Amino acid sequence: MKLCRYDDNRVGLVDGDALIDVTPALDVIGELRWPVPPGDRLIARLDAFLAAASAIGPVVRKPLSEVHLLSPIANPSKIIGAPVNYTKHLDEAREDRGIHHGRDIKTIDDYGLFLKATTSLVGPSEGVALRFPDRRNDHEVELVAVIGRTADRVTAEDAMAHVAGFTIGLDMTVRGTEDRSLRKSIDSYSVIGPWLVTADEIADPMNLDLELTVNGDTRQRSNTRYLIFDLPRLIAYASSFYTLYPGDLIMTGTPEGVGPVAAGDRLAASIESIGTMTVIVRAA
Ligand code: MN
Repeated sequence: MKLCRYDDNRVGLVDGDALIDVTPALDVIGELRWPVPPGDRLIARLDAFLAAASAIGPVVRKPLSEVHLLSPIANPSKIIGAPVNYTKHLDEAREDRGIHHGRDIKTIDDYGLFLKATTSLVGPSEGVALRFPDRRNDHEVELVAVIGRTADRVTAEDAMAHVAGFTIGLDMTVRGTEDRSLRKSIDSYSVIGPWLVTADEIADPMNLDLELTVNGDTRQRSNTRYLIFDLPRLIAYASSFYTLYPGDLIMTGTPEGVGPVAAGDRLAASIESIGTMTVIVRAA
């Protein structure tokens, strides 16, 4: 199934170029009282939600072209990033710094993971609002895994059983010397969408073509098979440090071809078996 959040926090099941509104199924989440437990309540109750959604009738259909698509995950407790996690992007980072010897630049083995502020999260219809237009702001297209079950120190072998599904991500970055967690946490610098594809629909997430175009020109094109830390390893590694909760987002890293964006640019990020997410860049 493909699940989207749209307009004023309504929820839809994507069916071709339309959606079926299933907002009433949110009743399965129940009432929340303070303190709210960590994690996204819809993802934590996803099976019950989808069961309730399939029982709704008569259905309301809307063309996807007529709705504002929000981030399909509303309340992740963490947005996790994987630095330099594609071989050729590593080469590109080396060249940028005039380094030609493999030993001289750090890799994901050295850096580990980073976190992005959850307040940086938006959906495709909200777009990216450039905060520092005088600095270089880069696009990074990434496969994003959405955690479905609480994961604490899981093995790579067990990791994929903790994934609810997948979506497309843009890990936007302002270049500079500050820590990644600051440069990548600007409001609107984490875009995900256009919807969540449940894990059962993607047979092999480690063999998906991904591409990003800017104003129609291809900038990034690769396949998730070229990840240095593959998804099971990323989940096992992340959960060895902190508990992963339903709705947590793992941005798996970006391939070669990162480049600058400017206000007015139109980004189209595509991943095989998920779809295409169109995002407009504007001034903040
Ligand atoms: Mn990234």
